[in-house]
Amino acid sequence: MPADAASQANIELIRKSDPAIADLIAAEAGRQETTLELIASENHVSSAVMHAMGTCLTNKYAEGYPGARYYGGCEFHDRIEQTAIDRACRLFGAKFANVQPHSGAQANMAAMMATLNPGDSFASLVLKDGGHLSHGMKINFSGIFYKPVHYPLHYDKAHPELERIDYDAAMKVCMEHRPKLIMCGYSAYPRIIDFKRFREIADACGALLMADIAHIAGLVAAGVHPSPFPHAHIVTTTTHKTLRGPRGGLIMTGDEDLARKINKSLFPGVQGGPLMHIIAAKAVAFGEALRPEFKDYARRVVVNARALAAGLGKRGYRITSGGTDNHLMLVDLRTKSEELTGQDAETWLGTAGIVCNKNGIPDDPRPPKFTSGVRLGSPAVTTRGLGEPEMDVVAAWIDKVLTARGDAGVCEGVRREVGGMCAKFPMPG
Ligand SMILES: *Cc1c(COP(=O)(O)O)cnc(C)c1O
Repeated sequence: MPADAASQANIELIRKSDPAIADLIAAEAGRQETTLELIASENHVSSAVMHAMGTCLTNKYAEGYPGARYYGGCEFHDRIEQTAIDRACRLFGAKFANVQPHSGAQANMAAMMATLNPGDSFASLVLKDGGHLSHGMKINFSGIFYKPVHYPLHYDKAHPELERIDYDAAMKVCMEHRPKLIMCGYSAYPRIIDFKRFREIADACGALLMADIAHIAGLVAAGVHPSPFPHAHIVTTTTHKTLRGPRGGLIMTGDEDLARKINKSLFPGVQGGPLMHIIAAKAVAFGEALRPEFKDYARRVVVNARALAAGLGKRGYRITSGGTDNHLMLVDLRTKSEELTGQDAETWLGTAGIVCNKNGIPDDPRPPKFTSGVRLGSPAVTTRGLGEPEMDVVAAWIDKVLTARGDAGVCEGVRREVGGMCAKFPMPG
């Protein structure tokens, strides 16, 4: 059962009409309550964010933007969306914001449509080095309609501190290929991104700079990661990762002409009616992120990630790049045991109630189905209130499960202890 009374009431209400789905939602609430969520892209929203989503706002068509809709009856929707826009601008220091993207990928799609013609080239980091599907994968719109050129991550197992974006090499790639757009911001990169350096590269090759801060948005909002503004021409993000809002996307810019193009490419370019219940929840989440408590939360996210990395490091695991500056880390499992794969680690840790995902590490010799690493993140467990001492306990549990190669008895023992910790650190309610 979920921790907060309103969610419990919701499930009972659903049960009256659809017991099968109500049971499954209740089961998922139980799973979230009793396991530790270390997936770096996930979080636990507040009760206010949660329940803004389950409202009558979902009944409304509000195609268009505040003050310029294609349907009547939008007076409250205009005020809700304008509030979300104003709060997003205040939070990130942007002049213009579009809060309508249904997801991060759709925010990127609209941003690319606003700046590129089909066939144009853009520069990005390839997925296997930490980039995202929507940064030019062949199977994604970004790689189907546009031409990606990739700048490299520096590989150096002997000098892990050098496993970072190679800005000099990025400059070379961009001067050679002259992309129209440069994308920075990643899904599995544990270090600070130098937006100023990227802007210098963009200026040198005549490109626009787009920062996709999907993962680090909450850290940026709280000032614990440098802001992409004023360097980036366009900033895209998700709202559901470190920012701790509902699932969704957001696009921002400081340029009025770009703002106009972005609005047009998002609607009517790639989307129809906005999800007004989600936009209300975004407004609530942005309001929360503007409060001092959120700064403290983001600071603790980084402290906890460092503590987890240190806990694993002292138990013999190599953390790629030698550590982390943000909320996530990549663990090179081969340093514990040559035959250990990310796939095994994900499965075994899952059995023990520690949820994470397999992930490639720099220059990974194994294919994406197996990988040599796991990606771990601190945003969700920090929301529950875990601190540095608990992160060391979690590192010890991870080591115990992996050392025992997923032995059923060991996993069951750890699962029980995980359950005990979860009971002490309840979900937000
Ligand atoms: C998560 C992520 C996205 C996409 O988010 P969705 O909401 O899943 O579409 C885009 N870019 C980066 C860098 C991400 O990590």
